[in-house]
Amino acid sequence: MTTILRSFVSGRWVEGTGERNVLVNPATEAVAAETSTRGVDFKDALQFARGKGGPVLRSLTFAQRGELLAKLASAIHDIREELVELAIANGGNTRGDAKFDIDGAAITLQAYADLGKQLGGRKFLLDGEQIALGRNPRLIGQHVWLPLTGVAVHINAFNFPAWGMGEKAAACLLAGMPFITKPATATALTAWRIAEEWVKREILPPGVFSFIAGSPGDLLDHLTSQDVLSFTGSGLTAHGFRTRESIVKNSVRLNVEADSLNSAVMGLDVEPGSATWEFFLNEVSRDITQKAGQKCTAIRRIFVPRHLINQAKDELAARLSEVKVGNPALKEVKMGPVATAQQLRDVRAGVQKLRAQAEAVLNDGGRGQLIAVDGERGYFVAPTLLLAGDPWKAADVHSHEVFGPVSTLMPYNDVEDAIGLVRLGDGSLVASVYSDDKDFVQAMVFGVAPYSGRIHVGGEKIAEHSPGPGTVLAQQVHGGPGRAGGGEELGGLRGLEFYSQRTAVQGLKPLLEKVFG
Ligand code: NAP
Repeated sequence: MTTILRSFVSGRWVEGTGERNVLVNPATEAVAAETSTRGVDFKDALQFARGKGGPVLRSLTFAQRGELLAKLASAIHDIREELVELAIANGGNTRGDAKFDIDGAAITLQAYADLGKQLGGRKFLLDGEQIALGRNPRLIGQHVWLPLTGVAVHINAFNFPAWGMGEKAAACLLAGMPFITKPATATALTAWRIAEEWVKREILPPGVFSFIAGSPGDLLDHLTSQDVLSFTGSGLTAHGFRTRESIVKNSVRLNVEADSLNSAVMGLDVEPGSATWEFFLNEVSRDITQKAGQKCTAIRRIFVPRHLINQAKDELAARLSEVKVGNPALKEVKMGPVATAQQLRDVRAGVQKLRAQAEAVLNDGGRGQLIAVDGERGYFVAPTLLLAGDPWKAADVHSHEVFGPVSTLMPYNDVEDAIGLVRLGDGSLVASVYSDDKDFVQAMVFGVAPYSGRIHVGGEKIAEHSPGPGTVLAQQVHGGPGRAGGGEELGGLRGLEFYSQRTAVQGLKPLLEKVFG
């Protein structure tokens, strides 16, 4: 029997009417679930969250909010195996990919639970110290963060249904805002099952959590100035939000995590065969194939010193050609399909576009050799490595994100050349630098930091401890300037700022000290 996904709004599960969207297994094209949100009252859902969830959540201390987060994390952990199966069936994930998403969600929620515990019995955050505002020491200023009184709307991309929901929930709940979360429809099954478990366990007070399984209808038209919208997805969808009347008119705070042409740069000091060389090749090949390249943080552009380009090309192609691609339900398979038929079309079209400026080193956006796949079924793309010998003339390679297992290798001449080429990406989530030379690392970090949300520095002494550039950690900010959307999430307590108002309070020192404890 087909699973019908319902939405959890206004404190109850509701099933949409009319024609349903069909979610499929991208390896077999079998139906995985169906959903519709037609008829759902989104205006009421917002009002319920604002009116019921907000006041209760704001009355809790950080420690109490942290306890809720810990329970959300445990719920995910308890049904982990079931979630892994759903991620395989609806996301095309291998077991490793599925755990990356699911464990990432639980770990991030737990990290914010721990932060809540550390903050203890407080309900708000002070920003900085008292400031003397005049000659009289009794007049002081104090900045304070308090949660907004509206609702946070979270809209996520298809590639991380669990982590996307968890990481946005973590900072939002700790800050004290109720939230309505919407996974991408095509891969919503994992997120829906988590939502079901959270609701069944009655972890969160009524109104704090709502879940939309499908289109959000007219929800965004009812956002007010105290609401926020946090979005992860394509730059094109983000553009629609940025120009939407309700958002513009009400100055709705909007966070965008969008496309990114992340780069990896091998240092000029790296010798073939050295530990750093091997580390670089390992991280790059893992990054291209993990989640079939459908990671916002995946390495799309690989820069190698010109004199090493041929050797790097051969060794990287050899590693990628060893990756077993096929039905991700099988343990030996290390890379599954991309998530949807549309995604497959986009990846193929993207490869063709890049091929006008880059030659194919390994594969060409085709299916390749597949394990346990029925005929032409499934949305498979073999790991594809391209080479752009003249990177300054390969404009599309620096501007068109192919969201699949596809990356382009490029030579560079010196550190200034490498910096200039990374910058052509016009803002990305992460740039990686593989080098053990302080001067090279320093030049790269200062050269590309204004264009990067995060810089991952890899070298031989750190190799065995590295989470890789693709892993987003709760302790550090995630987001990037320019093409990457200009947003910022996570980063420990920094993540709470988006959900809070920083207010400058000025007045009598002893009185304000009593007010703020
Ligand atoms: P997408 O097509 O922009 O969709 C993202 C989300 O927006 C989905 O939940 C989608 O819902 C929703 N959506 C689309 N149009 C909407 C509208 N008019 N009103 C309300 N919601 C709307 O992106 P995607 O294909 O899922 O994700 C791939 C992109 O996301 C890639 O470009 C990738 O780089 C980016 N991404 C970025 C990050 C990051 O952290 N920076 C992380 C992951 C992915 P439906 O599914 O129901 O249409």
